[in-house]
Amino acid sequence: MPWKINRFLVAFALAVLAAGLRIWPLQALGSILVWLTFYPAVVVSSIYGGLAAGMFTVGLACFAAIFLGPLLVGESFTKTTADWIGIMVFILNGALISSVAEAMRRANARARQAQAQAEASSQAKSVFLANMSHELRTPLNAILGFSTLMRQSAGLSADQRQTLDLINRSGEHLLSLINDVLDMAKVESGRISIDKAPFNLWSLAQDVMDLVRVRAEEKNLELLLDQSADLPQLIHGDAAKLRQSLINLVGNAIKYTEQGSVTLRIRCHPDADPHRLWLILTIADTGIGIAEADRERIFEPFVQISQTRQQTLQKGTGLGLTITRRQIELMGGQISVESTPGQGSRFRVEIPVERVDETVILPIAINHTRVIGLAPGQPEFRILIVEDQQENWLLLQRLLEEVGLTVRVAENGLLGVEAFQTWHPHFIWMDIRMPVMDGLEATQRIRALEGGREVKIAALTASVFKEERDRITAAGMDDFIRKPYQIEEIFDCLTRHLGIHFLREESIADTTPTPTADIKVEALADLPNELRQELSDALINLDTDQINQAIGQIAELNPDLANQLKYHTDQLAYTAILRLLKNNVKHSTEESHGEQGNDPDR
Ligand code: ADP
Repeated sequence: MPWKINRFLVAFALAVLAAGLRIWPLQALGSILVWLTFYPAVVVSSIYGGLAAGMFTVGLACFAAIFLGPLLVGESFTKTTADWIGIMVFILNGALISSVAEAMRRANARARQAQAQAEASSQAKSVFLANMSHELRTPLNAILGFSTLMRQSAGLSADQRQTLDLINRSGEHLLSLINDVLDMAKVESGRISIDKAPFNLWSLAQDVMDLVRVRAEEKNLELLLDQSADLPQLIHGDAAKLRQSLINLVGNAIKYTEQGSVTLRIRCHPDADPHRLWLILTIADTGIGIAEADRERIFEPFVQISQTRQQTLQKGTGLGLTITRRQIELMGGQISVESTPGQGSRFRVEIPVERVDETVILPIAINHTRVIGLAPGQPEFRILIVEDQQENWLLLQRLLEEVGLTVRVAENGLLGVEAFQTWHPHFIWMDIRMPVMDGLEATQRIRALEGGREVKIAALTASVFKEERDRITAAGMDDFIRKPYQIEEIFDCLTRHLGIHFLREESIADTTPTPTADIKVEALADLPNELRQELSDALINLDTDQINQAIGQIAELNPDLANQLKYHTDQLAYTAILRLLKNNVKHSTEESHGEQGNDPDR
């Protein structure tokens, strides 16, 4: 190997240099301090070339000292016995230096090899995860999709509906476990990244509460959301991670509380940087609490603390808090816990976020009642499904045909390209992994064909990794939906890209406000001052009777507003209503009321 020869060449050069230095500039030393220049040569060559190169330099140095003295300095280096003892000590020291250097070299090589192996195995793990994610999510898509579809069909007995609910709930549970394990793997392999955008913090908090409410109600727990009055509605940050962390923490609080209440409190603190601010989120429960010794351990992966009063462990993987902590740290925040066993726990999360210009408009949430058909007066829409797995295309086909769309299926990418050429669909649902030709290649081919630029193509992917999403975009697809999907996502996507109008089931949402229902500031402004004051006092005092009484009076004047207020007070959005009342007072005193359509729930 050239590298091996190199190290002897370097050793030789260093020895020659060391000897040469005795001729100049160290000629004044004469024959004393013979090893002065040879020691550094041995050290350098053994670090570079290991034991063999080091000993080679030692040999060359001895040769020079014994035979080349007269040539180098005009007299012999080995005149007395002491000089010969010096040679012995030099050889011994040289061997020692070279051995230590060799040991260091080997340790270094082993470390480099271990690192390369770790990188290779992490890569293999990622590939395995991507595959596993795909394999597990694909059948789950069918389980969740078909059970939802069947649940909607008429003529089911109560018993059958209950069974379907059970299948659906079990599927959802399985999905959340799979997601936990995948998230953990992503955390471990450092593949989680932060995705920031402006979002509505109030709605996010409300969403989290809505999501866990059923579980709290099943256990008769009081679920409280307490937002400070100065909490901005819009902020800039990673909404998905914040949401996931909150769901996990509030979910845990409910899981480990048998009676009493669970409270999510949100405050904000200013930061030295005027563009930033700190969210302080506290999740407090009156549950079993966590012993001091366990307070750090619960953040470790797979740790579940077995409670003396609950012999069996609660459902879960013991990964939730590990993922939550990691996500919060990635967002630049931190999490801590205080607890009194037997009385409850309090998790505190601090996260830096950026302020948002209040004029930013966020997309309005779409009203998600069940789609029952196509709105009349629309042209025919041809939808092509390119998917190899029967259970998947069957589900999608049924879903789309039931509302009146024209559907065809192609069972691999190549057939998909052919179907595009002969049938000219308006929209293509494209699976990614398929035999014969995958979805990415099929998309690229279609895009290159006549009319291929205009057709809308959306990927259906079971992958959870960002790289795959990037590949999907790079291949020229317009959108993607992750499997398992919610049925609404499919219709929303079609509306987004084709502008299809769907008929939706008349729902209670038309008469009762939905979670995104807006309380109109002008409607509040029209209320008599005393009534506004009464409502405001009742909210500040948290007096439910007084609140209901005030809403009762409002109902006589404006039933719609009363309905909306009832909804929001049921959701305990007291602070938000107080804020609106406050704004509204300003509004009606500073300007002539009702001029500005200041929409509180943009
Ligand atoms: P999982 O909930 O899946 O068991 P987590 O990582 O979310 O896993 O939580 C780890 C452990 O921390 C739980 O098993 C539980 O013992 C403890 N724990 C978490 N939150 C609470 C809480 N609010 N009250 C009491 N114990 C809790």
